[in-house]
Amino acid sequence: MSNSTSPVSVNPVSQIGKPDSPYVGRFAPSPTGPLHFGSVIAAVASYIDARANHGRWLVRMEDLDPPREPPGAAAQILKQLTQLGLVWDGEVLYQSQRLENYAQALQELQNSDLCFHCDCTRSKIKASGPIYDGTCRHRAPPPAHGYAVRIKTRNTLIEFEDLVQGVYGQNLGTEIGDFVILRKDKLFAYQLAVVVDDEYQGITHVVRGFDLLDSTPRQVYLQGLLNYSTPRYGHIPVIVNEKGDKLSKQSFAPTADVQNSSVLIYQCLALLGQAPPANLLNTVPDAQLRWGIEHWDIQAVPKLAKLPQELPK
Ligand code: GLU
Repeated sequence: MSNSTSPVSVNPVSQIGKPDSPYVGRFAPSPTGPLHFGSVIAAVASYIDARANHGRWLVRMEDLDPPREPPGAAAQILKQLTQLGLVWDGEVLYQSQRLENYAQALQELQNSDLCFHCDCTRSKIKASGPIYDGTCRHRAPPPAHGYAVRIKTRNTLIEFEDLVQGVYGQNLGTEIGDFVILRKDKLFAYQLAVVVDDEYQGITHVVRGFDLLDSTPRQVYLQGLLNYSTPRYGHIPVIVNEKGDKLSKQSFAPTADVQNSSVLIYQCLALLGQAPPANLLNTVPDAQLRWGIEHWDIQAVPKLAKLPQELPK
């Protein structure tokens, strides 16, 4: 093993995983644009957690919404990951190639009478209360055109222990309501595709941003209905700008400057509570990642929803 602060890169970090390890993690970006710092920290956290657990780390491109995906964004994301030294295992999985699998899962849920058609408009739903009130659940005949497919939820608590945030629970029936798994525009909803693919790829650990914590009970619920296994989840704080808004395309977050990968990775390690030594800032990304893997303590990640991005010195 290299000295933790040594600037030299020894073996490629991708060789750290043991082929027989049961841990399989993943990074699943939506290619709506290049990575910004908020997505870089999610990639770094899931990568380091996987490698620290001698696991595999997969990349899945969640390209399910073509109108929101500028041409070339997926390729640019993969290039950025490579420049950051985040080497994935196996082939990248593209959700756009998996539509038949989502259709099958949808069919399975429909066959079990767990879904219904709904043509309620956004404004109607908004007017009827904070969550969808189930209007179309018992409508006969169900709408035949211009409908979304919703899954019936139940009035029970879904609870799990998040690796970072601790116990988290939600009653889908009262807090979320029957949710969409096939959109009106006939695109599969994220909640359905993500569980189908986490199962397909054998994902055992999902490390991602806090903004998805409240989606997790929906995913756990769908996993139960489809007889899938449920991964362990860990939700790291989302990075916010000086106005307190999540870094995103909508908040005009700048593209992560992967020419300065060392600064980015150092900053990720610091924000993830890993207390990297100052001299690690001047080392190459591979050595920084190696240090991060050797010293990784997921318990040290701040149990917060949001963290401001500190500017690199
Ligand atoms: N594609 C989602 C996003 O970029 C992340 C999905 C996930 O990690 O479950 O926000």
